[in-house]
Amino acid sequence: MEIEKLKKEQCYGCSACMNICPKKAITMKQDEKGFIYPVIDKSLCIHCGLCTKVCPSIQNQEVPSEKYRKSYACKNKNDAVRMQSSSGGIFTLLAQYILKQKGVVFGAKWNANYMVEHAYMEKEEEISLFQGSKYLQSSIHTSYQQAKTFLEAGRKVLFTGTPCQIAGLKTFLGKEYENLYTQDFICHGVPSPKFWEKYLAYRTPKGSEITHINFRDKEKYDWNNFSLAIDFNNKKRYNRTNTKDFFMQVFLSDICLRDSCYVCHYKNHQTLADITLADLWGAKEIIPHMYDEKGVSLVITYTPKGQELLEAIHPYIEKQEITLEKVGKYNPSLRKPAKKPENREQFFIDLEQQNFKKLIQTYKKRFIGVKRFYRKCKGGVKKIILFR
Ligand SMILES: Cc1cc2nc3c(=O)[nH]c(=O)nc-3n(C[C@H](O)[C@H](O)[C@H](O)COP(=O)(O)OP(=O)(O)OC[C@H]3O[C@@H](n4cnc5c(N)ncnc54)[C@H](O)[C@@H]3O)c2cc1C
Repeated sequence: MEIEKLKKEQCYGCSACMNICPKKAITMKQDEKGFIYPVIDKSLCIHCGLCTKVCPSIQNQEVPSEKYRKSYACKNKNDAVRMQSSSGGIFTLLAQYILKQKGVVFGAKWNANYMVEHAYMEKEEEISLFQGSKYLQSSIHTSYQQAKTFLEAGRKVLFTGTPCQIAGLKTFLGKEYENLYTQDFICHGVPSPKFWEKYLAYRTPKGSEITHINFRDKEKYDWNNFSLAIDFNNKKRYNRTNTKDFFMQVFLSDICLRDSCYVCHYKNHQTLADITLADLWGAKEIIPHMYDEKGVSLVITYTPKGQELLEAIHPYIEKQEITLEKVGKYNPSLRKPAKKPENREQFFIDLEQQNFKKLIQTYKKRFIGVKRFYRKCKGGVKKIILFR
């Protein structure tokens, strides 16, 4: 199997092939839906086969043994950090632990156009740029190459990203590094960047510029009812809960996810990361004494390095071991990929053909409402039901 022969759903867009190519013959280009795929410049390709060798879709990767798997409810004791983070503010502590040892941390941050890209930081002052979930696939660029350079130089590296990006990093590196730590998260899937671009253009008032975006604002509402907040340079702020905002409705309805997200292989603990972070949805029922409205994280360790990371941040967190039995029903993305809605293709045709106002009219009425899976407790997972 060659990367060019992969079906769309087999390519995660992890960019390992682009990073490994010795001739820079591979570029990641957006398709008509806005998702990035590798394109090979035939005039530069020397048929070395390295791109195939590092493709996580083609190569089998061994997942860590079950014996190290442990799951916890965790909260950063620093409430201010939790408020700036998506769930319990655990990423910030992991980053601080590595940075204090003169290590390097890779993660996703906004670029100047409010698209998401991977980058690295070496100073604690930069952590805020990486905090918070950005619900888009980040462009890896040459992050895998940069991580390898740091690793070879003997520096500790914490690489954070989606499970498929961690898989791409591992195949790219091709060997274990003592000084590499990897952290992913339970991933719902990534929505179309083209849809995001059009949404932002529609949302931005004429003549103003965006100054800040937070997909997980907890100030106006709370962790359970998190909102998408967009600040503009005219001091105006857009702020609507995830159940009422059109971008979040479309994202959570699963209609605009990347093809590979519907068949994601990294569900049900098939991750290659040392440690996985997530929202502990259902916290109120699972662990009532730890629940509050600022956010609780689910942390799953998969390897001794994952345990080491959690041990290192122990003084700064509230933590309790939990079983995963109850967690899956509140957080379906832990167990299985999103189901592809039948009208996904039609959505992308409409995205192309309709102006954004019309698109909202077309699809808003199909969201018949938000069904809250309170499951015995308030504050469970929210699911948007798409009417066909
Ligand atoms: C696309 C996406 C889908 C998610 N789906 C779920 C889900 O279904 N269920 C669930 O429980 N949790 C999900 N999460 C994870 C969750 O939102 C939190 O990121 C996680 O709980 C960590 O929170 P925190 O408070 O510890 O740290 P935070 O400060 O919130 O986490 C920041 C970390 O997330 C990384 N990050 C942010 N955006 C991206 C991105 N676009 N691509 C790669 N890395 C990124 C940063 O690099 C950093 O490592 C998702 C996150 C993303 C980005």
